[in-house]
Amino acid sequence: MKVYLCRKCRALVVSEGFPASAGCPAGGAHLWHRLCKGNLTGGSGLNPYICKKCGVTVYCSSAPSSAGCPAGGGHLWTRL
Ligand SMILES: [Zn+2]
Ligand SMILES: [Zn+2]
Repeated sequence: MKVYLCRKCRALVVSEGFPASAGCPAGGAHLWHRLCKGNLTGGSGLNPYICKKCGVTVYCSSAPSSAGCPAGGGHLWTRL
């Protein structure tokens, strides 16, 4: 599965395909960014990463994408 984050409302979604964009609580459509292959709970082969800027934690098989940090600019991922 892949982890997606909305840059506007900070929603995290685990999905194989691109999530639906309609109905962002922050207004208009979600702005999804694909972070990595992984999930939100961990598992074999997955490592936890936290963004120092927006505080989002994800479990990924490799370093997440830096694009689309809700706090502005790119994520600053730290492997925990
Ligand atoms: Zn959203
Ligand atoms: Zn971030």
